Amino acid sequence: MSDLIDPFGRRVSYLRVSVTDRCNYRCQYCMSENMTFLPKANLLTLEELDRICSAFIKRGVDKIRLTGGEPLVRRNVMSLIQSLGNRVKSGDLKEITLTTNGSQLAKYAFDLARFGVKRINVSLDSLDPNKFRTVTRWGKLEDVLHGLSVAKDAGLEIKINAVALKNFNDNEVNEMITWCGDEKFDLTFIETMPMGEIDDDRTNQYLPLSDLKKDIIKNWTLTKTDHKTGGPATYFDIEETGKRIGFITPLTHNFCESCNRVRLTCTGRLYMCLGQDDEKDLLTPLRKSEGDDLLMDAIDEAIGRKPKGHDFIIDRPGNAPAVNRHMSVTGG
Ligand code: SAM
Ligand code: SF4
Repeated sequence: MSDLIDPFGRRVSYLRVSVTDRCNYRCQYCMSENMTFLPKANLLTLEELDRICSAFIKRGVDKIRLTGGEPLVRRNVMSLIQSLGNRVKSGDLKEITLTTNGSQLAKYAFDLARFGVKRINVSLDSLDPNKFRTVTRWGKLEDVLHGLSVAKDAGLEIKINAVALKNFNDNEVNEMITWCGDEKFDLTFIETMPMGEIDDDRTNQYLPLSDLKKDIIKNWTLTKTDHKTGGPATYFDIEETGKRIGFITPLTHNFCESCNRVRLTCTGRLYMCLGQDDEKDLLTPLRKSEGDDLLMDAIDEAIGRKPKGHDFIIDRPGNAPAVNRHMSVTGG
């Protein structure tokens, strides 16, 4: 079957699947404290998610990342991971991976490794227990640190994702780089993106990574590398620690030219761009027929609408978010 090529000649080879919009944390930049989540009846079953993933695999997608919400709080999610892991073992997929807040890793890390997951991204914005509690509202740092240690024992390669937050974790950067070096984790900083209403004003949180990087190079020797993980980060080797540091800069730097991914929500909507509202319903064609013809037509139509790029901008206090949905709907 033919590959998925968008109108700008980019081949879509990477599918991100938000398996749930729910989460056991309420990170301040991601959600409001009082969230209304989707009714469970609206969710695709795990078998349906697997079927959509299979359709994408047939069309040349070779990397799938599960995300959320918190992917590891969806009941029985390991059955989907096992099924996708089998596609890695059979050679249909190059990689199945996930982005998690780490709170459930102590429970699941060994199963993840057994089912064929090799690498995970774990979000961690502060190494200070009180600040961690503040930013996640409901999280406990020790759960994540314990989860990370179990994940290491299970042999998973770990990358830490930290959202750069002005006057919050900008003074912890050196400590985080040192800690990641000691733990043998790569580290990526992310700029806050204007997605969904939160309780704070995003201009209070936004820290351009160009500023953060200027500070980092005062203390660390960074050398640009061609390393790519399929995502939009630019990576540098850190000479002093031997690990990498990545920067995801959707606002200060346009990361769309090489965009190779689309995002599926847990209700079967396909978003062709993280920063645009346009989406395509895959649930209806999926449920209308047991064969994949209708689904494939819908996927083709969606890829034909993939836009050139996003319109993120955070400049004026009180600006409405660029898109109304929260990051937890499409999973970052
Ligand atoms: N719950 C999982 C986690 O936190 O890793 C997976 C989902 S979370 C939405 C995926 C990533 O998006 C996390 O690294 C999180 O820090 C990041 N994120 C959430 N909201 C964001 C925002 N508005 N701007 C930038 N990054 C955001
Ligand atoms: Fe949950 Fe991840 Fe959003 Fe934090 S960033 S609230 S852990 S989905």
